[in-house]
Amino acid sequence: HWQSTWSEAEVRQAARDHAMLTWSGCSAIDSLPILERAEGVYVYDTTGKKYLDWTSEAVCVNLGHTVPESVKEAMVQQMEQTPFVYGGIGFVPVRAQLAALLAELAPGDLNGFLFPSSGSEANDCAIRLARLYTGKTKIFNQYRSYHGGTLAPLGATGDFRRRFAQDSATGFVKMFNPEPHYFRWGDTDERACEMALACLEEQIVAEGPSTIAAIMVESIPGSAGVLIPAVGFMEGIRSLCNQYEILMICDEVMTGFGRTGELFGFQHFDGVIPDIVTSAKGLTGSWQPLSMVGVRQKLKDFFFDKATGWGSTFQAHPVAMACGYASLKYMLDQKLLTHVQTVIQPIMIEELDRLVSKYDFVKQARCVGAFGCLDLIDPQTGERVMQLGEPLTKEMQIFKKAFNNEGLIGFLRPPQVHCAPPLIISEGELRDGFQRLDRALNVLQTSFQD
Ligand code: PLP
Repeated sequence: HWQSTWSEAEVRQAARDHAMLTWSGCSAIDSLPILERAEGVYVYDTTGKKYLDWTSEAVCVNLGHTVPESVKEAMVQQMEQTPFVYGGIGFVPVRAQLAALLAELAPGDLNGFLFPSSGSEANDCAIRLARLYTGKTKIFNQYRSYHGGTLAPLGATGDFRRRFAQDSATGFVKMFNPEPHYFRWGDTDERACEMALACLEEQIVAEGPSTIAAIMVESIPGSAGVLIPAVGFMEGIRSLCNQYEILMICDEVMTGFGRTGELFGFQHFDGVIPDIVTSAKGLTGSWQPLSMVGVRQKLKDFFFDKATGWGSTFQAHPVAMACGYASLKYMLDQKLLTHVQTVIQPIMIEELDRLVSKYDFVKQARCVGAFGCLDLIDPQTGERVMQLGEPLTKEMQIFKKAFNNEGLIGFLRPPQVHCAPPLIISEGELRDGFQRLDRALNVLQTSFQD
């Protein structure tokens, strides 16, 4: 084990000298714990500190940190049989099996599947398929969204990270989300939804429907703060897409594979079936890099004798697909969707509501399945404590420290606090997590009062 041959100081020094990060400068490495062991819903750092994984890493380790024997066996078997076959040269049985299983589980006629390696690549591929199929270019996306770190998905992204694409990805048009409380189109959900859809239609007409390939949305925007759309909004997008011959793409990278209590988040909306769906993260419990792009029959037929033109050496990697297939079977065998619906969701809603009533700076909470979020506001001004993507304020640094001191780990993106533990979490572990969060919020309350 390399860990035992390197001291923590050596790891830190080498990390400082040679490793690079994504959304922060390399110096941020100094503030990260060095994690060396993980089990169930817990991870352990080199000092032996145990953390409860409060956001399933990046809302991805859906099945926790212990790989079930059946998944290990499937991966080892694949490694022993054909550890790697390039998709353009040969076809491995597990690829057909995984595609057939997904077609069986997915609603409607979502019948064709590609297997890139990341959510970003899946969205890149979805954008390309939509453009090839329609012969049109523009893609509509919401401001409060994240679609991935490669160039086109970053251009599609609405949140602050899109500035890293430096406007070099073209053809993306932004639309507003009917956001729950910072900005609304009306006093009631119905009115807000009606106005958001009327505005979107006006935008479609102004841009020209004959130039728009797709409307691409996270069905429940995740990193933006679990923004559950008002009843009718997703249904309205589906019918505008039908009316103007525009494809609907649902990005289910974060919401897919049980996070919301359904296989896909769009299944919460009446009769909504996207033309293209993408997912990743939970597909393999994140134990292997694998994503998926699912298309409806009409697109499957279109590409039957035409190239999709999307590929990479590692797409449809046999070991990753074996992991995906076995993980999906595990999720089904363990009846995790039912666990999310009947055990996790009621506790999350109860605990989140309790925190909203207890603290005046906890403005609002939202939750669907095991996907929860609360919003922090400044108790003096009533405004959100900070904007997403800004450097942490003094209070938020105190809160982050308290969060970790309480033995919670996860991504913290004030003004939002996500609560998205692994779907295998037990009632006791979940209640314990909320107690820890409560104590961290108590520290924040004191810092607001100082
Ligand atoms: N789409 C959504 C909704 C996401 O949340 C993410 C990642 O967080 C992505 C796409 C990008 O996926 P990946 O990081 O696997 O490339």
